[in-house]
Amino acid sequence: MLKKRIIAITISAIVCANVIAQDFDTYFNDRTLRLDYIFSGNKARQDISLAEMHSMPHWYGKKQRLSQIPVEGNGQITVRPHRNDSVIYKSSFSTLFQEWLSYDEAAGPGKAFENVFLVPMPKDTVDITVELRDNRRNVTAAYTHTVIPTDILIRHSGEHGTTPYETLQQANDTSRCIHIAFVAEGYTNAEMDTYIKDAKDATEAIFAHEPFKSARDRFNIIAVKSVSNESGTSEPSKGIWKDTSLSSHFDTFYSNRYLTTLNLATLHDRLAGTPYEHIIILVNTDEYGGGGILNSYVLSMTHHPMFKPVVVHEFGHSFGGLADEYAYDFEQIPMYPHDVEPWEPNITTRHDFHGKWEKLIQPCTPIPTPESENPDTISSKIGLFEGAGYSMKGVYRGMQDCRMRTNENPEFCTICRNALQRLIDFYTK
Ligand SMILES: [Zn+2]
Repeated sequence: MLKKRIIAITISAIVCANVIAQDFDTYFNDRTLRLDYIFSGNKARQDISLAEMHSMPHWYGKKQRLSQIPVEGNGQITVRPHRNDSVIYKSSFSTLFQEWLSYDEAAGPGKAFENVFLVPMPKDTVDITVELRDNRRNVTAAYTHTVIPTDILIRHSGEHGTTPYETLQQANDTSRCIHIAFVAEGYTNAEMDTYIKDAKDATEAIFAHEPFKSARDRFNIIAVKSVSNESGTSEPSKGIWKDTSLSSHFDTFYSNRYLTTLNLATLHDRLAGTPYEHIIILVNTDEYGGGGILNSYVLSMTHHPMFKPVVVHEFGHSFGGLADEYAYDFEQIPMYPHDVEPWEPNITTRHDFHGKWEKLIQPCTPIPTPESENPDTISSKIGLFEGAGYSMKGVYRGMQDCRMRTNENPEFCTICRNALQRLIDFYTK
């Protein structure tokens, strides 16, 4: 009986794998279509335009669940057969442009930002739609364009050599794994050994955390050795401008310690032809800084004592779409309207909490859940702790502490772990 059941399960697994392969092979070739867009505008109006398209060897993203997305994101890109409503590929993202819209400067005449997305190369003509959403989850801008795969103006990239890279970790099955690429920023040629050491330290930091630890063999990791002419990064508030590979700098949006790069096209030029999907930029500086943007990139300083917790926290944003679980007394940022349920899996406004971690809360747990009264101990309860998403009131997290809340906590909370596990399985099972 047991044997029969195993055979039955094996057969259904094979059938399922065939359907998946057919789905991808029906619509796509094993190449990547890189789409470079300009997002522009201000608080009142946003515009999307296509700038350039590239064709690159191989496709390193998902090959199953092509029309599904595991997290909603602040924007989505959808591929449909030309003049046909069926969805053959979809992914979600967040952008620095949308974050900039929350700053006072965005009330002015507007600015333009580069954004780059990767989709598998279609076999036939497709319509591609890019949508942006606001913090009420309403679509604020949408743009559809047609791509003919034989278009002679699609530039071929990454075919005649790539930026040199080292494989730090090979996945068990490289045909169904999560590809991570580290990129060097602010490291000169003479500093490449330091960069490789930093990339290995970041790798160990990520895989010291569950659920990554138990799923380590499902990740393929490379370190791309992009060389900078000068060491370090630019610090505009000090009048320091450096000639670096990705032109990263502090003072993004005039916010003092905010370190980013806005040069997304250059970033993807450096990566062209390498096996990459999720990107972690390591910046050679000891000044505290970093950020993580869903399905865009993580950027982190490497030589500050908080490097390891920061790079893991930011990977929680960029890979998992996790929200920040912290809030400060001195500053309330109305990022999450209290009458809208955030799409992020690890916070809630209790507007539509069902489907998040409701089932993990014991019936006797008080709501809101009080923090541990002893300042030396952290409550291990799962509940609804008030204070998350930059708001002390009206936004809740599931546990007292988490990697997404403080640099001191050594791990992700149960809610984040479960969310990350769902994503790892989404991409690899
Ligand atoms: Zn958490």
